[in-house]
Amino acid sequence: MGVQQVICMKGGVGEGSYARNSKSQAALLSKSMPLLEQAVLDLCCTTLPESVAIADLGCSSGPNTFFAVSEIMTIIYRRCRQLGRSPPGFWVFLNDLPGNDFNAVFKSLPTFHEKMKEENGQEFGPCHVAAVPGSFYHKLFPSRRLHFVHSSCSLHWLSQVPPELLNKQITNKGKIYLSKTSSPALIDAYASQFQRDFSLFLKLRSEETVPGGRMVLSLMARRTPDPVSDESCLLWDLLAQALQGLVSEGLIAEEKLDSYNAPYYQPYTEDLETGIENDGSFSINGLEIMVLPWDSASGGQNYDRPTTAQKIAKSMKAVQEPMLASHFGAEIMDPLFKRLMEIIAADTREVEHVSVLVSMTRKA
Ligand code: SAH
Repeated sequence: MGVQQVICMKGGVGEGSYARNSKSQAALLSKSMPLLEQAVLDLCCTTLPESVAIADLGCSSGPNTFFAVSEIMTIIYRRCRQLGRSPPGFWVFLNDLPGNDFNAVFKSLPTFHEKMKEENGQEFGPCHVAAVPGSFYHKLFPSRRLHFVHSSCSLHWLSQVPPELLNKQITNKGKIYLSKTSSPALIDAYASQFQRDFSLFLKLRSEETVPGGRMVLSLMARRTPDPVSDESCLLWDLLAQALQGLVSEGLIAEEKLDSYNAPYYQPYTEDLETGIENDGSFSINGLEIMVLPWDSASGGQNYDRPTTAQKIAKSMKAVQEPMLASHFGAEIMDPLFKRLMEIIAADTREVEHVSVLVSMTRKA
């Protein structure tokens, strides 16, 4: 199966869902607010159309889905009021892969609309919300349709596992992502896949965004040029260790582990700037590195190491379970994440989570 059929966060609102296990991602969204707010205020300095089109790419399901779009609309609405201009209406496009739990998103729409009116007044709107299922590595919108594009915590997911791994030109024995023992060829294969994906993403969005339109993106990244530092590889390495444990117990065939690789890449922040400059259609207004503590999955609570390990394993499960289950089988998910929790609890490293936030304008 292609990665676009298997990447999806755990849906619903149950105990193991992304909706209930995405505290780190929520913390990142909060951290990105000042730069996002500035981008929206800048957009308000231009002539706004009757209806502002906002897209959130990789919206997932749960409280984070509406976080940025609500803020963007509220800022525009209030700013227009302050300036004595009549506020625009809104089109909100929520995009994710087709496997996303859009039903859960739809079910929360009435509450979302009520909240927007409660916070901004009954005159707020009209606000039309549409789901756009599909990959953001494909064209999603007609040309020059969008005024504001937002995406958080999604662009580190690649459109595919690097082809050199799929066609077995390169192997990654016992591992599932880059690690300290990665060959230069493996490192190159991942870096090139990201470069191709990111440049395609920029090209597509540059077509879909109006000149002067704004785009704010956040994704997992690294502060160091070293592609195999703990900052970007440690958790993948611990997950690979957990899988290796199940191989030695005979629960997973060794070839199964050797043929699994994450469609994921954490770029160096400078590579991202180079990608944007090479594309040439956007000018960068601001770029920030956002750092979360190693235990951010605990949502700011100071737990002991075993409890923190449990929270981290649970949040990794909410993100990765559908993907891993489709390759290894649903029955090994509980033993796998139990083992991961034990491995994280026994480890002593406290490696921060690094993301990059970049705000840009579509050139005229
Ligand atoms: N923006 C939310 C969700 C992040 S989780 C937040 O900040 O919490 C990452 C999301 O990106 C997932 O829902 C995943 O399905 C989606 N995603 C990954 N690759 C994608 C692609 N190629 N096209 C669209 N969505 C994608």
